[in-house]
Amino acid sequence: MSIYSFDKKECLNRAEQLLYNADVASLRYACLELRQCIEAIAYEKFKTYQKYILEKELNTWQPKRVFDFLRQVDPLSIEDYKFKVYKQNDDESLGECILERDHVTLNKRHIGKDYNKLGSYLHTPTIKQQLNYSEKHKNLREFLKTTIEELRPLVDCCFDTNFGEVFTIECESCQKSIPLRKEGLAIKEKFSCLDSSCNMQYQVLDISEDNELIYEALHLNVPCSCGETNKININDLESLYVFNCTCGKKHFLKKDWFHNEQ
Ligand SMILES: [Zn+2]
Ligand SMILES: [Zn+2]
Repeated sequence: MSIYSFDKKECLNRAEQLLYNADVASLRYACLELRQCIEAIAYEKFKTYQKYILEKELNTWQPKRVFDFLRQVDPLSIEDYKFKVYKQNDDESLGECILERDHVTLNKRHIGKDYNKLGSYLHTPTIKQQLNYSEKHKNLREFLKTTIEELRPLVDCCFDTNFGEVFTIECESCQKSIPLRKEGLAIKEKFSCLDSSCNMQYQVLDISEDNELIYEALHLNVPCSCGETNKININDLESLYVFNCTCGKKHFLKKDWFHNEQ
């Protein structure tokens, strides 16, 4: 077993070993191993759809971002389900089952609350936090034990699927490709450009009978006196948002900047 390994199973095994040690410091190292275990599970799954992602994004995505992306292209890949393959008889009826597997993966809590909680033990607490640090550590061993038990079947799961049929649309803002699943998009569902420097948000308006997707970008159109219309991603807006038009003029958007009547 290499200490440099980021294999999901080895991370989990090391976390389990650290838990047997009685000292508090070992528990912190177990947090690190479990966090890396969650990352390893997410990245392994990610590899099946990696070709749709810009290379610069690969360095920055954390598990939650990976799962948001997988939800956009193949929601089945992030669900627990039983996978069975049947033989087809000569008369086309269903024959014997020749393969049966359980697909289990991380849930929302693992990549959200648990992942963040594990991370919170990896930094030196502030002076004020140190006053109550023993309280913070009180249930840590139990939490780690439960997390290890929950992750064990996930690291033992030895198959991933990429059944999602993917098509792409062009981002109106950065012109890069946005991958989407062909089936199962819902009206009002939101999706986003995967380039983090753009991150333009979109919403599904309708899906025609011949399966054509009708969508709109969720942006504000801000006109400039030069004639240019600036498209501002509503996700970028803060209480005071400042941007420069391509002509160089500075624009300020202040809260309440958005009015929507329904
Ligand atoms: Zn974009
Ligand atoms: Zn301008």
